[in-house]
Amino acid sequence: MARNLSKTKVPMPVQDPHTRGRNFTEVALGYTQEMAVEEARRCLDCKHKPCVAGCPVAIDIPAFIGEIAEGRFEESFRVLNEASALPAVCGRVCPQETQCEQRCVRGLKGEPVAIGRLERFAADWHREHACALPAKPVPNGRKVAVVGAGPGGLTAAGELARMGYAVTVFEALHLPGGVLSYGIPEFRLPKDIVMAEVNALISLGVEVMLNTVIGKTLTIDELLEYGFKAVFIASGAGLPRFMGIPGESLKGVYSANEYLTRINLMKAYEENSLTPILRGRHVAVVGGGNVAMDAARCAKRLGAGDVSIIYRRGFEELPARREEVHHAREEGIAFHFQTNPVQILGDERGWVRALECIKMSLGVPDASGRRRPIGQPGSNYELAADVVIMALGTSSNPLIRLTTPGLETDKWGGIVVDGQDGLTSREKVYAGGDVVTGSATVILAMGAGKDAARAIDRMIMEKSE
Ligand code: FAD
Ligand code: SF4
Ligand code: SF4
Repeated sequence: MARNLSKTKVPMPVQDPHTRGRNFTEVALGYTQEMAVEEARRCLDCKHKPCVAGCPVAIDIPAFIGEIAEGRFEESFRVLNEASALPAVCGRVCPQETQCEQRCVRGLKGEPVAIGRLERFAADWHREHACALPAKPVPNGRKVAVVGAGPGGLTAAGELARMGYAVTVFEALHLPGGVLSYGIPEFRLPKDIVMAEVNALISLGVEVMLNTVIGKTLTIDELLEYGFKAVFIASGAGLPRFMGIPGESLKGVYSANEYLTRINLMKAYEENSLTPILRGRHVAVVGGGNVAMDAARCAKRLGAGDVSIIYRRGFEELPARREEVHHAREEGIAFHFQTNPVQILGDERGWVRALECIKMSLGVPDASGRRRPIGQPGSNYELAADVVIMALGTSSNPLIRLTTPGLETDKWGGIVVDGQDGLTSREKVYAGGDVVTGSATVILAMGAGKDAARAIDRMIMEKSE
């Protein structure tokens, strides 16, 4: 096989920014077979596999890329699927640049191998070409419950099902997927791709009970009483934060969670949708993470004249993925750096009319290592806005904590676990993903689900000896 010594990745074809700013179809179009083989040939098949150490689910990266380089796409998918239940998802939304790709040796003298794009290619190829669903494992006669059908819960469920457990996933919403379904927009992660990967898990025998809120419909203790040998809690961090500034209860102020749920889960963007959504002319989004980028890009697609991101630090500190920032800029989103809202102003009918902001300067780094923003007195100004979206981070919903005696949580409401296994302060109860770490990433939640599944299996096997 001839290696490709190009210093740069094979570019990803994307929809034209002007066209895509008016539709919800996927922005990145994916590699063709020829592009995938060409990019795969950039991999040096390093003996020590440094890239694998950057992947929280330890995909054998050179092995799956090697199969693509040889044109064996289904084999490539098989390697991926041994370690990850959601490769088409991760290939799209993983922050590869700070994980596997950051460790790639090709990155030392050029761009790293496009590991994420190749993962997406192999997973998409499998979905489009292979029709055989995975065979059901031999049952071991033991039941495990999982709370939450996001990436953490689904990964744990898949791992346990492969070991022969009868797994039931209890999900509060009417669709599985967690943030993959209700948060990340269609133009970044098409929902039929999420459902295809969820269906592959269901075909392993995983049962998904939708519309079931643990802490209301059933408690954790009831699940244990009903014969589940262990419970894995992966209920995420879906409780939005606000700033506590005047005007946050005006009409036209959304949390990003509510705004994105209306659009993604409830399809408010579709022409005949029954879900109401305010299509503002001047939309301001407060925050600088992926959630803020998603909300801003959705607002643009819903027809806003201007959309502004208000962020209190500078470009360098933006926590969003660079690719998302780049796409947002291409689509005409304006960025107001070193700017912080001090109040939301309303009209006489209680609707938002403007955002009053103050300019910030950046002082010495704080505990997070980022420069601390300091308000500049007298720099206040008004920004016209009829919709304001707060994308300031989230914490976990207190429902499970309040209904599970003895479950230890931290000061932010996250469930406290003992090390990598995810064991909580309650026997037989494990937790992982955003409900433990606070809002993080898909792949970290998946890694936690995988670790907890193995720990649950060890615990059950020890107890049954
Ligand atoms: P979740 O995905 O939140 O799933 C939790 C599930 O539990 C939900 O379905 C919820 O309905 C259910 N649940 C909650 N309470 C209960 C209950 N009491 N009973 C039953 N079910 C319950 N990460 C990336 O890696 N890349 C990105 O590009 C990215 N973009 C993002 C964009 C947005 C808009 C958001 C909000 C997040 C983004 N993230 C991204 C973060 C990532 O999605 C999360 O870190 C990840 O989904 C966490 O997985 P989880 O399984 O822990 O929780
Ligand atoms: Fe990289 Fe994410 Fe794929 Fe792991 S799952 S190899 S971190 S893109
Ligand atoms: Fe290939 Fe890069 Fe991993 Fe080496 S570090 S095996 S070049 S992907």
